[in-house]
Amino acid sequence: MADAHLPTAEVSATARRHFIGGAWQPAASGETFPTYTPATGEVLAEVAAGDTDDVERAVRAARAAFEDGAWPRLSARERGRLLYRIADALEANADALARLETLNNGKPLREARAFDLAGTVECFRYYAGWADKLDGEVLAVPGPYFTYTRREPLGVCGQIIPWNFPLQMAAWKVAPALACGNTVVLKPAEQTPLTALELARLAQEAGLPDGVLNVVTGFGETAGAALVRHPDVDKIAFTGSTAVGKTIQREAAATLKRVSLELGGKSPNIVLADADLDAAARGATAAIFYNTGQACTAGSRLLVQRKVHDELVEKLVARAAGMRPGDPLDPKTRMGPLVSQEQLERVLGYVQAGKDEGAELLTGGDQPEVNGRRGYFLNPTIFAGVRPEMTIAREEIFGPVLGVLPFHDLDEALHLAHQTEYGLAAAVWTRDVTKAHRVAHALRAGTVWVNMYHTLDTGAPFGGYRQSGYGRELGKHALELYTQVKTVWVNLS
Ligand code: NAP
Ligand code: MG
Repeated sequence: MADAHLPTAEVSATARRHFIGGAWQPAASGETFPTYTPATGEVLAEVAAGDTDDVERAVRAARAAFEDGAWPRLSARERGRLLYRIADALEANADALARLETLNNGKPLREARAFDLAGTVECFRYYAGWADKLDGEVLAVPGPYFTYTRREPLGVCGQIIPWNFPLQMAAWKVAPALACGNTVVLKPAEQTPLTALELARLAQEAGLPDGVLNVVTGFGETAGAALVRHPDVDKIAFTGSTAVGKTIQREAAATLKRVSLELGGKSPNIVLADADLDAAARGATAAIFYNTGQACTAGSRLLVQRKVHDELVEKLVARAAGMRPGDPLDPKTRMGPLVSQEQLERVLGYVQAGKDEGAELLTGGDQPEVNGRRGYFLNPTIFAGVRPEMTIAREEIFGPVLGVLPFHDLDEALHLAHQTEYGLAAAVWTRDVTKAHRVAHALRAGTVWVNMYHTLDTGAPFGGYRQSGYGRELGKHALELYTQVKTVWVNLS
């Protein structure tokens, strides 16, 4: 195994502080908390524990930056140029950032570099291009009036993100918010705060004015909740669990701030009997095991037409055997650990529930021997004979645990697919183009893949139906989340 002892010293040498108003500031309380490396469970660094006072300072800095100073005076084109410079800085530091992401999150370094970092850079470039294209319209109203609209920023945006794609989640939120002329207070997840702080450092070096991007580290119940309640925050963008999304919507009502929510999923991946089964097996494996199953779009319910059920399941089990978890810094590793001890225990609880409720465990469910078992590793796990009422068919597991449900015909497949409160993503595998589109249209999900899985792009909108949330990130749709429309009437008589 490469790099058995992860070089935590290189990271922990610097104490991590909040980034507020362009300066590195300790928590007002002086408190810190440890952040870990999931591959070994070692402490990686101490991080400032943000609270109401820190959020107050950060919101004040963001408000000041929005109202006065350099930011509102920059032209849209100059804002765009700044975002291009941030993208360049991220690209120039991509290797180091990917390594830090891997150390803090546990995802394979290869994927952090090829996917997370590439996606982060693309996201900043994409929204850099939008900054000077936020046009209004001239309206053909009756009367002697010149009536036009302007697309204006919202103000101070609070952004609360999860730990599964730390830097990418930051980019999806920060890049469009800044392109539209807002200022930001970002609260990264307690488990993975390090790359968000690096993003702030690089943005400052690229010339972003002080106070435009602030990062407050800390816990959801303290720092996150203070941001949601703050009367001077105009918008909350949140990605995370559906339970916390509901709390945020309730809390935000008191100040009627705008809210957009990207929440959980229990996405159905439907394989019809006429599908290319090798491609479907490959896709289904990636759908559930990518990022150790810690993806909101994870294809955690595999619905398989009975005729091909046994053949597909055999292929899946063989593929799972080839995906043994390993040290994420090893370039050969395709699956890393779960993010935390807490997440490992949560997922193990679901494995137990699957067994207790009578699903058939085909492979996995146990912990492999990696790093002397100190890390939060779990073998890829597949349950067959899953029924829709079972816990593992209903709840988001957020780990490498697949449930296979057989179906007879298309109507039954759609019925099963919709037995969930979620609606984030879905996929269908078939060689029949008519069926493919029919299923794609019928599925209640924000993203539907046909003969593929997990592909996203900065240019294509992403978000949920039903309890997977609302609002569309990415693409031009995200501009709606970070602007409001003003109508101006001019009397010409
Ligand atoms: P979570 O609690 O929803 O965390 C997401 C973010 O919200 C974190 O930054 C968190 O802070 C913050 N937060 C928590 N409570 C808050 C509150 N009352 N007010 C404001 N912000 C708050 O998710 P988790 O606990 O990390 O993971 C639990 C489960 O959520 C997972 O097993 C998975 O099912 C789901 N999840 C979904 C996604 C997704 O992409 N849709 C991502 C992560 C997790 P902390 O850093 O203190 O937690
Ligand atoms: Mg939490």
